Amino acid sequence: MKLESGTKELILLKSGEIALKGLNRGSFEDLMIKNCKRALRGVGEFRFTKAQSTIYAQPVGDCDMEEALDRLSRVFGIAALTRAAVVEKDMEAIRKTAAQYLEEELKAASTFKVAAKRSDKSFPMTSPEICRELGGWLLRQFPHLKVDVENPDVLVVVEVRDFAAYVHGAQLPGAGGIPVGSSGRAMLLLSGGIDSPVAGVMMAKRGLSISAVHFYSPPYTSERALLKVKTLCEKMTRYCGTIPLHIVPFTEISEAIKEHCREDFGTVIMRRFMMRIAQDIALQEECSGLITGESVGQVASQTMASLACTQAGLTLPVLRPVIGMDKEEIIAISRKIDTFETSIQPFDDCCTVFTPRHPKTKPRLEEVLKEEQKLDYEALVQRAIAQTTKERLSPR
Ligand code: ATP
Ligand code: MG
Repeated sequence: MKLESGTKELILLKSGEIALKGLNRGSFEDLMIKNCKRALRGVGEFRFTKAQSTIYAQPVGDCDMEEALDRLSRVFGIAALTRAAVVEKDMEAIRKTAAQYLEEELKAASTFKVAAKRSDKSFPMTSPEICRELGGWLLRQFPHLKVDVENPDVLVVVEVRDFAAYVHGAQLPGAGGIPVGSSGRAMLLLSGGIDSPVAGVMMAKRGLSISAVHFYSPPYTSERALLKVKTLCEKMTRYCGTIPLHIVPFTEISEAIKEHCREDFGTVIMRRFMMRIAQDIALQEECSGLITGESVGQVASQTMASLACTQAGLTLPVLRPVIGMDKEEIIAISRKIDTFETSIQPFDDCCTVFTPRHPKTKPRLEEVLKEEQKLDYEALVQRAIAQTTKERLSPR
């Protein structure tokens, strides 16, 4: 994309689903703008305005527009986005800018199509007239081109709006969903695996701010395993915004379970401790739910019977967005959000270290509770919470 000096460029952000929210729309858009500003930190200063389900992000001074576009493509609530040239609402100016701005693309293409949208009805030409006029003119400027309305190599879009006209190519798909923060906050149980980062980002897409809790078992698990979790969390922040990460020492609990409880109940008891502690921290942090990366049938602790035991006694809802997904589907998302390569680094998790040889796949709650009575449950919970440390992770 090339611009004559003096011509301004900006990024147009089209809000998707939030446009349907009627009365809430204004505050949703304000939240989205706040999230966009945060995502653009370090790229450059932008001025934001909004009109007609579009947000305009105008750079103030120099900035890397491709980087800005990339960052904004991960902000939830945006259905589509594009860089665009700002033009005077005058057909000759529009023609000139279109030919210049999209010159490289048009030269490399064999076919093109013009699409026009006129929301300023005082503009003297209708949308079809703009298309015909600009299309004809571009055919004369780039004689090798043909028009293809079905499947053009290059799409030339002209939007005539209130304060100016905008010229751009095909829009990029945005991250979709609704703005982070519009649905409250939830606590993600974040392991070092593939599933839980995906689960967290999926819920952020539904408007939840994310806090996270990780259980680690030094010296059975290494510093590097913990670092891996922080890296995962940091990668998630590009979608979720800042994430407060709570790190809970879990060694004493795991050892107590191993020492006092039946081995085949070890996993489910461990999982119940995690949920219970996560809920206590969640309530302190004003979270209204828990999130896990559980998927039915994936491992012994994720049978229906195990899930029932894991959940028993909790008051907060447990959100499990990947519950019905195949591993392959979860992996596809984890690649897309760029957590996969980190997730597959081979460091031991506290679960893998203490995993029983033959975990019960159909634990009965009465039996689980009986095993737990062998432990000083509350004291273990409270000590782990007292030793929890907290860090705030933000996008780099
Ligand atoms: P993942 O790929 O997310 O690690 P998994 O297939 O390994 O999942 P489990 O180990 O049974 O499954 O864990 C199920 C869920 O429990 C995880 O998705 C996560 O939400 C939570 N969890 C497991 N281990 C931990 C941990 N050490 N710290 C925090 N949460 C955990
Ligand atoms: Mg795991």
